[in-house]
Amino acid sequence: MKASECKCIVCGKQAVAFWPMIDPDIPAEPYCRKCLNKAKAEVLMNCFGYSEKEAKLFTHYQNKQKK
Ligand SMILES: [Zn+2]
Repeated sequence: MKASECKCIVCGKQAVAFWPMIDPDIPAEPYCRKCLNKAKAEVLMNCFGYSEKEAKLFTHYQNKQKK
């Protein structure tokens, strides 16, 4: 199933990707771009101890690379 055929689990907009894709035991949920960034930032903060500013910079940088 494509993410673009799903709706964001948070806000209901068209999804762009599934998250998380880390562990097959954790069901991935579809997210739109905006909520995906937020979800990623939360993982970075909770699991890797990033500050909110660092997490935002990281996701921003990642999005720039993906073209
Ligand atoms: Zn959303």
